[in-house]
Amino acid sequence: MEINFKELTLKGDRPLVFILSGAGLSAESGIPTFRDANGLWRKYDPKELASIRALERHTQDVFDFYNERIKNAEPCRPNAAHIAIANFQKEMAPFCDVIHVTQNVDNLNELAGAPRVFHLHGDFQTSLCRKCKKTFPRVGFYEREQVCPVCEATNFAMRPNVVLFGEVPYGMDWIPSYLKKACVFISVGTSGTVYPAANFVRETKASIRINLDLDPLIHPYSKFNHRIYGKCTETLPPLLEELKKELTSR
Ligand code: NAD
Repeated sequence: MEINFKELTLKGDRPLVFILSGAGLSAESGIPTFRDANGLWRKYDPKELASIRALERHTQDVFDFYNERIKNAEPCRPNAAHIAIANFQKEMAPFCDVIHVTQNVDNLNELAGAPRVFHLHGDFQTSLCRKCKKTFPRVGFYEREQVCPVCEATNFAMRPNVVLFGEVPYGMDWIPSYLKKACVFISVGTSGTVYPAANFVRETKASIRINLDLDPLIHPYSKFNHRIYGKCTETLPPLLEELKKELTSR
C-alpha cells in the first residue's frame, strides 16, 4: 500500500479517524447496493418509492418496498469489513476517537460489535412517528394502521425511520466540525452520488477512498488524496491494521 501515514496531520492530544460507509460495505453480506449492475435502483424508481411524495401518495407501496428490504436483510451477517471497523473502534479507544458514520440502514455494524455507529440516513431497526417525529424500536412490518405509542391513535402515524429523498439526513449539525478535525477520512463502499455525504471529503485534510469502481468523472470524489480499488473485505482490514500501527506508535 502506498499511503504514507506519516503525512497525516495529528493535531491536538487525541487524533480523530472519520469513517464514512455506504452500501458497498454490506454488499458482500448479501444486501444489494443501489446503483451497481444488480442494484435496487435498476428494479425500482427512487422517485416513486423513496421520496416523501411517494410516502404521502402511495403509502402502502412505499411500506412494501421497505418491508421487502427489511425481510431480505434479516438473514445477512456482518462481513470482514464490518468486523474490522468494529474491532478498530474498540482497540483504538485508548489512542484516538473513531467516528463511523454510515449511509446504510442495515444493522450489520451493530451485529459486528461496533461500539458506536451513526446512521446518517436512519435505520431499519427503528420506526418514526409521522406526527411527533419520535423514534421507537420497530415492531414487525409496516402497515398503514400502525400507530404511534405516544400519539393519539392517528392512522398512518408510523413509518420506516429512513431518510427519504427530499428530507435532511441526521447529524448534519455536528458532522462538519468532526470532518474538519479528523486526521484522516476513510470513505468505504459509497458511490458518492448522494448528498450531503458526497461532499464530506471537501471538508477533510487527508482522505482515502475504498471502492470497487474508478471515481466518477466530475465529482467531489476527485478530491481524495488516496484511492484503493477492490472489495472492502479484502482492502479495509489491512488498511486499518496499518493505520493502527501508525497511531499506536506515536
Ligand atoms: P450506492 O449503491 O450508490 O454505491 C455503492 C458503492 O459501493 C458503488 O460505488 C460500488 O462500486 C461500491 N461497492 C460495491 N460493492 C463493493 C465492495 N464489495 N467493496 C467496496 N465497494 C463496493 O450506495 P451508497 O453510496 O451508499 O448510496 C447511498 C444510499 O444507498 C444511501 O441512502 C443508503 O441508505 C442506501 N443503501 C443502503 C443499503 C444498506 O443499508 N445496506 C443498501 C442499499 C442502499
